Amino acid sequence: MEERFNMIQLIRGFKDILPDETQTWRHIEDTAIALFQSFGFKEIRLPIVEKTELFQRSIGEHTDIVEKEMYTFAGSKGELITLRPEATASVVRSYIQQKLYAKEPIQKLYTIGPMFRRERPQKGRYRQFYQINAEVFGIESPYIDAQLIFMLWTVFMRLEITGLSVQLNSLGCPACRPSFKEALASHLASKTGSLCSDCVRRQDKNPLRVLDCKVPSCQEVIDDAPSMVDYLCDDCARHFNAVQSGLASQGIPFELNPRLVRGLDYYTRTAFEIQTDALGAQNAIAGGGRYDMLVKMLGGPEQPAIGFAIGLDRLVALVMQGLAQKELTPDIFIAALGEKVREKTFEWSCALGQEGIRTEIDFSDKSLKALMKRANRIGAANVLIVGTQEIEEGAVLLRNMQTKEQVTIPIEGMVNHIKKHLT
Ligand code: AMP
Repeated sequence: MEERFNMIQLIRGFKDILPDETQTWRHIEDTAIALFQSFGFKEIRLPIVEKTELFQRSIGEHTDIVEKEMYTFAGSKGELITLRPEATASVVRSYIQQKLYAKEPIQKLYTIGPMFRRERPQKGRYRQFYQINAEVFGIESPYIDAQLIFMLWTVFMRLEITGLSVQLNSLGCPACRPSFKEALASHLASKTGSLCSDCVRRQDKNPLRVLDCKVPSCQEVIDDAPSMVDYLCDDCARHFNAVQSGLASQGIPFELNPRLVRGLDYYTRTAFEIQTDALGAQNAIAGGGRYDMLVKMLGGPEQPAIGFAIGLDRLVALVMQGLAQKELTPDIFIAALGEKVREKTFEWSCALGQEGIRTEIDFSDKSLKALMKRANRIGAANVLIVGTQEIEEGAVLLRNMQTKEQVTIPIEGMVNHIKKHLT
């Protein structure tokens, strides 16, 4: 009896991105990159593992990501290393370590790649997911906040996505945040009995995180909580107003959301999120904010910064809901009949592919009927029919699969003839 082997399956929370989808991924990436480049961004590529300390120090010890979601393991010398849960910390590390600021403090950088978080997997939430990040260093002006959000919004407009909203908040700065934290902490202290167990814990260590708790029993406490915008110092208030004017002048519809704190500690001032009404619970498709203290906190010079991350997996899901996939079907299917024509047809398939003509060929021995069936199944636009007789006569048949028209193509200079025929 034939031996059957066990199938090895992928790990929960991870996924394969199949050929049906990859066209959409590339389309989104190309759209975003083209736009980012128009706004002066350059690509940076970084490792996906970093020292654990980098994330502890930047994202914050008392955040969900650092407390329970990181893939951390020992490196070769026993030091702790982590699969990156987000990209900003690595971009900042590189900006400092490679002294990018010394050449030019203003840097606009983007990067695309996988992130890893050990979250509870569900629709729209994976343990390996992909982000497109854009980060700007060295600019404090609120105009850059507005421009960055404008650029992000334009990506979504170019992808023809509707049903979006921009949620906006300011998280203040080290001058004004402590008084807000205090007011919040005393509000929470008076309501401890109504908080979920996670929030009771957060209440002391990181009270801001209570504001984005989704547990229903916490909602009432959150609803009456003080808002950061009421505690902003003059500089932060001026900055926040200017961001809003900039967005309004560009016609970006935004909503002030005093509960938007984002899950990472490094944000200061502007925080934003793009939400969709089409994906259910996992409704954030991009988020970001200003992080003016982070470069210094990670050992660099004092440089303001702001950035965002687009969640590619969710964006792909949105785009695929709206668009029928444009399939990459072959321009030419070579139906090679018999072993004797194999050498010639092999050569032609290489030459046609090299010319950028999408070519498919079957190297096995099949009947014309079987080959035509396959050409139909894979949506080939034309079939080149090649038998021994055709080779002897110096001409082959090109059949248009839609109109069923057939033309004779001389073998001499065939690639050029086909190219002309396809245009
Ligand atoms: P964050 O880095 O948490 O600010 O997230 C930025 C964006 O990445 C979110 O708006 C989501 O679209 C996406 N994202 C974050 N976590 C996940 C996840 N586990 N699975 C899929 N997408 C995610």
